[in-house]
Parts: sequence; structure tokens; C-alpha cells
Amino acid sequence: MPHDLPKAYDPTAIEDRWAAYWVEENLFAQPTPTAGAAPGGEPFTILLPPPNVTGRLHMGHMLNQTEMDILTRWRRMSGRRALWLPGTDHAGIATQMMVERQLAEEGKTRQQLGREAFVERVWAWKRHYGGAILDQMKRLGASVDWSREYFTMDENLSVAVREAFVRLYEQGLIYRGAYIVNWCPRCQTAISDLEVVYDEHKGHLWEIRYPVLGDDGKDTGEFLTVATTRPETMLGDVAVAVHPEDERYLHLHGKKLRLPLVGREIPIILDEWVSRDFGTGAVKVTPAHDPNDFALGERHHLPSINVMDDTGHINAEGGAYAGLDRFVARKHIVADLEKQGLLAGIKDHTHNVGHCDRCKTVVEPRLSTQWFVAVNKKVEARGASMAELAIAAVKPGADGKKAIRFTPEMYEKTYLNWMENIHDWCISRQLWWGHRIPAWHCAVCHKITVPLPNSKGDPAACAHCGSAEITQETDVLDTWFSSGLLPVSVFGWPNFTTRNMGAPGPDSGTWEGEPNRADFDAFYPTSLLVTGFDILFFWVARMIMLGCWFSGEIPMPDGSPRALSESVPFKEVYIHALVRDANREKMSKTKGNVIDPIEIVKQYGTDAVRFTLASMASPGTDIAFNVARTEGYRAFANKIWNAARFIFMNVDRAAEIGIAVDRAQLGGMPTVREDAPLEARWIVAELQATVAKVNQALASYRYDDAANTIYQFFWGSFCDWYLEIVKLRLDFSETADKSKTKEALTTLVSVFEAALRLLSPFMPFLTEELWHAVYDGNPPAKSVALTTFPMRDGTPPESAYDPDIFEMVAVQQIVTGYRALRKDSGVPEKELVSGQFNPYPMHGMNAAGVVAHHGDIFRHLAKISEVRLEPITYRNVRPEANFEIAIDYVTTIDIPAERDRLTKDIAKYEKGLAAAERQLGNESFLAKAPAHVVEGLKKQESETRTLLEKAKAALAALPPE
Ligand SMILES: [Zn+2]
Ligand SMILES: [Zn+2]
Repeated sequence: MPHDLPKAYDPTAIEDRWAAYWVEENLFAQPTPTAGAAPGGEPFTILLPPPNVTGRLHMGHMLNQTEMDILTRWRRMSGRRALWLPGTDHAGIATQMMVERQLAEEGKTRQQLGREAFVERVWAWKRHYGGAILDQMKRLGASVDWSREYFTMDENLSVAVREAFVRLYEQGLIYRGAYIVNWCPRCQTAISDLEVVYDEHKGHLWEIRYPVLGDDGKDTGEFLTVATTRPETMLGDVAVAVHPEDERYLHLHGKKLRLPLVGREIPIILDEWVSRDFGTGAVKVTPAHDPNDFALGERHHLPSINVMDDTGHINAEGGAYAGLDRFVARKHIVADLEKQGLLAGIKDHTHNVGHCDRCKTVVEPRLSTQWFVAVNKKVEARGASMAELAIAAVKPGADGKKAIRFTPEMYEKTYLNWMENIHDWCISRQLWWGHRIPAWHCAVCHKITVPLPNSKGDPAACAHCGSAEITQETDVLDTWFSSGLLPVSVFGWPNFTTRNMGAPGPDSGTWEGEPNRADFDAFYPTSLLVTGFDILFFWVARMIMLGCWFSGEIPMPDGSPRALSESVPFKEVYIHALVRDANREKMSKTKGNVIDPIEIVKQYGTDAVRFTLASMASPGTDIAFNVARTEGYRAFANKIWNAARFIFMNVDRAAEIGIAVDRAQLGGMPTVREDAPLEARWIVAELQATVAKVNQALASYRYDDAANTIYQFFWGSFCDWYLEIVKLRLDFSETADKSKTKEALTTLVSVFEAALRLLSPFMPFLTEELWHAVYDGNPPAKSVALTTFPMRDGTPPESAYDPDIFEMVAVQQIVTGYRALRKDSGVPEKELVSGQFNPYPMHGMNAAGVVAHHGDIFRHLAKISEVRLEPITYRNVRPEANFEIAIDYVTTIDIPAERDRLTKDIAKYEKGLAAAERQLGNESFLAKAPAHVVEGLKKQESETRTLLEKAKAALAALPPE
């Protein structure tokens, strides 16, 4: 019988089973809406930020996925048509690098394999290992629609990428041009500005003397000195620039210089961009190796001489230095200059050096031909540029509303600032793994042929001269180009062919049949994006640009034009915080403080880890992950487990005498009769107030408030109070009033069942197990996740003044007061004593009523046999906020021994307090000590102070000898 839960809560025994069940049963699939079918609630659509196919789950993923899963489960249970779409990214550079490393271990290179065989090898890797991170996600219980799982290189998504490229090309928004890019000589590809990490580097500034030539072309004996941090680039110098008003160089206007080591004659040019104050005020101009020099070169119509090859070695343009690695060449060049007396000086110089984010190689700014999207170019038919639309989507519209809302709001400014200063987007990468650019070069007329929009198949001939000698561009597209299209492409854009669903999985579906926009019409725009700050520009900004641009071309289902508010890829963006270690340090491999979520899950169970993250997650606050907390939440899960065992045991006992829970009362928001016992009325009111708070907290991304509210309800209200009191009502004796027992049992089970539903978005495994057990193998749904969140009449109740809550609070205060007094007076735990109770008149509490009605509670919970409403006559009185109490118990203590003990304690506390105060008053200690140490010390100080006060009071209360 399912009621027979194992004695101990063991997450490993239940979590694997339910994780597999949810996937196998395809429980969270959201089918394509069909004509005529009931719509089934407003959609809640959320896209998983696709992890790299090479990835492994880290704590950031776990936080991100926990937050998404809580919201998706909550919205689904609140009646929304929830769709959470999973998938993986082909991750161009990362995946290519990884397979290249594998090849290197076999002593091979990708060049030896050739492009086709290499790409096949990557696919083979992907088919074998590629799903690992999604398998980890399944184990964490993410309630995603696995039947819609995608991979950014899937056939249908590749069609979308090609269509996006050709449409932008047709609209004049894609061009090919020579530009200075960040080149990684290791990865041998251009990388974006965002993929370059800058480190401060202690380097040098080399000062080089360039001989000035006379009108006869011979050395005049005069030199012009330039300064550089990259001397090897001088091989590509085509001029030296000075400020036109720089008085030091007025006499050199129109003169030429001889480039040392190379011998080329180069002009002195005048440009106001040159800073007279930096270095010597004379700047060498190398257009092929520096973005500023490139701009100078354009202004002055100078040639560009690229002196390096793709691997960072000097090429034939470098004469004697050809074939040398750039840093080796640097050493030779400096030595040769010195020999020739042309090195004026070497100065220490600290500057920022860019490194490739993937492989940490020093990035070489270098001229190369790349493909770009002109994001700032206005298209007449659209009345805006891509960037302008993406800006308008985040700013308040004419109606004052924003089409996309950021939480925390500060990221809106970060986004707008970046978008308002955005440059053309370099979308080509010199990789083999990725979407190959759909453009063909003609060997005859050298023009480019790009297929027409909506065309199928590759072009067979040049569109300009008709030649069949055309070859496809070898570059692939930036990975973010395809992931930026996901919000439209996952719903079938551009062709809206229907997916013929097979078994769940990325390779199962085929795309065919009549165009069907039902998915797009139902689920676009998506509701929410939950992601990290690190990909705000990479991904979020690109999705907004591409999403607004392409969906804006699609009319609404009724044929009307699509407003910007309906073109955006998502309506809300929640940027989650970082997970740090317990000391608030950033996790890093070098520090060795990385927490592996899978390891922690193995130790404490997924539910406890999820709850830990949720209990600390709120907008803009980083999480200091502390396993002590996770241990605490495992204990919380255990407490709920034990509560379930207690409840099921009573259900079984009731069954033996023919009492059954009224099942009609389960599944909604529990209700009670007005004359039900106080604890029943109170726990239902508490549950309602808890649901209201949780709804409110989740609507504003206060996961912490939601989790802590549920925790307090379950642990405090339900377990510590309600369960203890309800034991009095579960009367299974011969003489019992069976209808009352049945009623109490039904309230108990219905409140527990509702509380499981409330908790399930946070702890899906534990609640699934217990919820099925509540229904004893005959549940009304396949999963607790498919039931409704506890709500009354569809809306959460307003929390308001409730006399039941007020009365219960009084009962709790009296019980707590008596318990403390018993302890202070040394009453043996099980001994029943009677007591006095004296309410203060001004508080309006019907004290006589409370005391008269709840004698059984005081007897059971505080072991007070009888409470007499009368003035206090004993010395050991305990004053509370609303009343004072005393017990009929004579304390027999050895007064001199007690005085001795208390005096010693007081001395000890005073000493400890003084030490803590000294330390907390020490500014330099406070400045250096980690936050948790200071916090601990403060806590210790306040606890010692309390103990000291208690000991002093006890000493004063001792009778004279
Ligand atoms: Zn690299
Ligand atoms: Zn041609």
C-alpha cells in the first residue's frame, strides 16, 4: 500500500524514479493548438537559454533552471498553458576546439582530415555525447517539453538561419568588407569584441627613430621618433602621423621618412586625431593592424599592408622576418634596431592586452575581409534600423508602456547604453563547425551570388555573369546569429511547416506538410526570458534585434499589421544573480571553490538544493551558497516526510473503524465549517494567507520570500502547532463522535494535500511522492504538477484581519509562555502542573473565553492540567506582552550553590562580552575580517548579552538566605 512510506526520507530512492517518469510520460508537452479546440488558458512561454552542446551543468545553470522551473510549474498550476522549450547550442568555437583537441591526441589536425570529414566527426561526437547537459537537466526535474527539444544545427533551424541571412542581404543589411577584427591566431578566426577579455599587462613602450629624408631622397641626419607597444607591426607601416599644429614638426610637413629594417619610403601625414601629448606626438600608421590606424588610412587613402598570416607568423611582406612567430619577430626587430642605433629608448608601460576568451591567446587586431550586418542602417519599408527597433522595444511607447520589461530594472539602462552605441555586427567566423554562409563567389566576374528569399536549393550559376564556376563562401556564421533567431525559429519561422512528432528527442521530428502558424500564433511573443548578465549583449540583444525584425514582417492572425509589442521575442527579461561560495567569493577553478551541483544533489537530494537556491534568490542579489543551509532544507524535507507518515498512520487507523477521508474535499482550497475547532479554522486561514503571499512573491521574482513563507507555514504552523493540536481530535475510541473525527481527519489531509501542491514548484520530487501516497495509488492526475495551485474561486484570497488567527496567536503565546516557565522552574518534562493566568485588561482579548475553550490544548501542548483565571500570587511569575502567568510548582533549589553558579556565570559572560566589544570596536579588524566572521561575532555578542541579563535577573530573583 502506498501509504506505507519507508521510515526514512531518502531522496535518491525517489528522485531518479520521478525524473524518469516525467520524461517518459511526456507530462509537460504542450501540443500545437488545433483549430476548434478549446484554447486552455493564456500561454506562458519560456525559452531555455540553450547550453553549449559541449557543456556540463554548473551552479549558474542550476540556479537559472530552478528559477525557470519554479515559475513554469507555478504558472502551469495557476491555469496558464505553460510551454518551456529546451535545446542546445552548437557553440561554434567551443565545439570545434574540443574535437580538435581530440584529434590532436590522435596526432591529427582538422586540416589533414579536410572540412567534410571534420564536420562529420563533430556530428558523430554530438550524437554520442551531445545530450549530456540535457540529461543532467532531466535529472533536476525541469518541467520542459522534451518533445520540442531542438539543436541549433537542426535542419529546420538551419533553414531559418539561411533565410534570415538572405533576407537581410536582399534588404541591403548584410555586406562584406575589409575591417580590423580581433583575430585569434590559435582559433584562426575572427572573434567578436565581446569574446575578447582584457588583462592588465606590464609591457614596454619602444621608441624607434625613423630617419628623415631630404628632397634628394637621402638621409638628412635628422630622426623622427615614434613609440609603440607592438614593434613587429612596424613592418606594415605606411606613414607617420603628426598633429598639423604641432610646432615641433612644422618643418617636416611634406617630408618623407625611411622605414627602418624595411627601407620603404613613407610620408609624414597631418591629422588632428593625433594627440600631441602622448609619447613623442608622432604616431606610426599601420592600417592593417590597428583600428585607429585603419581609420587614418581610410582618411588619407593609404594602402594597408598585412604583415601576418592567420597563425600570427610574419608573412612575405615582412622580408627578412618572414616565417617568424610575432613575438619572436619582436625580439629580433628590437635587437636589429638597437644594432643600427635606431632604438631611442625602452620604457616600462602597463597597458591592457586582449586575450581570446576561449583559448587565452593574445588577440591580434588584424585587417581581414568579413561579413557584417548593418544594424544601424535604416530600411525605408520598416521606417527604422534593426538597432532602432531594438531600442524602441525597451523604451516606453506612445502609450507609456514598455514592450520588454527588465528585472532588475537597472539592466534596461545597461542594454540601452550598449544598443545606442552599437557597431555593425561582424557575423562571419573562420570555422568549419557552424552554419556555412549561403553566399557564392564567382571565379569569372568575382561577384557574389546569394539565393533569393524563400528559394530552395543552392544556386548553380553566378547571378551576374551566368558562369557555373561558383564556390560557396568558406566562413560560417557567428553562433549568436542562429541563437538570436531561436524565438522565431523554434515556432517554425520562416516556412511554418508542421513538425511531424516522433518520440521525444532532437533527431526525431521531420518538418513537412502544409504551413501551420498555430504554434507561432499561440506562443509568440514568449512571456519571459531568465538568463545571466554575461550574455545580455551576446544573446539577449541579438534576439531582440532579430526577433523584432523578422516577426515584424509577419501579420497578426487576423491580418492586421504586427505592433512592436507583439514583435518582441519576449515580454519580460529576468537577469539572475551569481552563485558564489559560502564566503561570497566568486567560484573559480583556480581558487578551487567550485561547487558541482550534481555532487551536492547526490549528497542532499535535488529538492534540498533547489530549495536552498530559491530561499536566497531575489532580483539583483548574489547567492552565497552554503551547504549548511542545504542540510537544513534536507531536514525540512524530512520533517514533511515524517508528517506524512503520521497522517497516513491515522488515515489507516480511521479506516479500521470505518472512517474515511472525504475525497471530495481534496484538490482545491480546503474549507471548514464556521463552528469547526479553532485549529482547523486557523490552519485554513494560514494556508490561504500563505498562498496569497507566495503568489505575490513569485509575481515579483521574490523566490526567497516565497520559499521562506512556505517553509514557515509547513514547519511552524502546520507541523509544530496544527499537527500537535489535531492529535486531540483524532479520537478512534468506541465512544468517539465519528463525524467529528472524520471532519478533523478530512481537514488534516486536505490541508496537507493543498500544502504539497503549494510546495511542489520548489520541491517537485518529494511532493510528487507524497501527493501520490495521499491518493493511495488512485490520484486524480498523472502528477501533482498537473493539478491546480491552491486557490479559492480561482483567485488567491486577500489576507485580512481574521479573528481565528488572533485567537490562535493568543493560544500560542500562552502555550509558549507556560513551556518557558516550566523550563525555568525546573519542572520535569512529563509532569502535569496547574497554573494561574492573569490577562492585562487593555488588550481586548476574551481571555476568559480563550482559557475556558482551549484547556485541552494547554494540557496537551504545555502539560498544564488546569489554567485558573486569577491574579498571580506566586513569585515565579512570567510577564508576557498581553498577560502574566504562573505555575503551581515550588522550586526547590540549593540557594547558596545556585548563587555561586550564577555569580561565576555572570563573570564569564562579562569577560566574553568585553572581548567581543573590543574586537567589534577595532576599525582595522573590521576592515580586514570577512563578512561572515564579523556577523558571527555580532551574533555571539548579542547572545552573550542576553545570557548575562538572564543570569543577573535570576540572581536578583533568588530569595535571601
Ligand atoms: Zn582563441
Ligand atoms: Zn560571375
